[in-house]
Amino acid sequence: MKITEIKAKGILNPVRQPDDWFGLKYNMNLYRGCQHRCIYCDSRSECYQIADFDGEVLVKRNAVALLAEALQRKRIRGTIGTGSMNDPYMPVEKQFNLTGQALRVIAEYHFPVHVLTKSDLVLRDLDTLVEINQVYAAVSFTITTPDDALGKQIEPGAPAVSRRLAAMEKLAAAGILTGVLLMPVLPMVADKPEDLVRLLELAAGHGAAYVLPSLGMTLRDRQREYYYRQLDRHFPGLSGDYRRKFGGVHFAQSDNADSLYDLLRDTADRVGLKLKMPIFTPEKIEKQDPQIKLF
Ligand code: SF4
Repeated sequence: MKITEIKAKGILNPVRQPDDWFGLKYNMNLYRGCQHRCIYCDSRSECYQIADFDGEVLVKRNAVALLAEALQRKRIRGTIGTGSMNDPYMPVEKQFNLTGQALRVIAEYHFPVHVLTKSDLVLRDLDTLVEINQVYAAVSFTITTPDDALGKQIEPGAPAVSRRLAAMEKLAAAGILTGVLLMPVLPMVADKPEDLVRLLELAAGHGAAYVLPSLGMTLRDRQREYYYRQLDRHFPGLSGDYRRKFGGVHFAQSDNADSLYDLLRDTADRVGLKLKMPIFTPEKIEKQDPQIKLF
């Protein structure tokens, strides 16, 4: 995959709608494009205008400086999210360490953070996360199957599910709030009730505090085309079933989505997982008197 360094104009975007899932106030994407190549990834959709999502990663080389400038000006302390449009711990992060440096800046300015990832590389920044956790730090792992082999087919560039679970355990042991983002749930691929139950049991056994499920997947333009090509490769005949069943819909769900949700809720209750994560309530930052700061 081609790696290109670019200069970004801004890095910290406000989240304008109230965010019930993660309580985000700001969002940042340090890269554009993603090396994890999940076959279902929504970021391929035309609405996001990423021309070559699977061929090139753009590295925002001035991102850390932009973040420091932005945080210095903020008067509301609210959770900064990262990981919505690409994975902040994809392999290129080992080389550029943008996420690691951004977390250092967030620690310095005492802001809360929510990291969404599929990678155990997040453990590299454990000490920084522990520091940020004096305010609030949460790490959610997207896990869509408990099975490493199926995970390799549907998320070919991401670390194995078992490695994500092991990382979750270490974060939880260090006191970091952690849990599972169970989405998408791919109809006819990863929606077997027994697998979903096993996933929740594994998550609870590895220190997860919550599971946030969304039963189904988006199927939009380029995303759909790419997904169907990958289904043809790994699950011959299945794209025909999708076409017949879902036609042109933009959100595809398992037939038994309602009963699956009931099963997830009951299992979550049984194993002690919440279906909502604790979030940070934004607060005002008192302005520091520049004279006082001098002394
Ligand atoms: S890790 Fe996330 S952003 Fe990256 S390809 Fe997978 S779903 Fe898309």
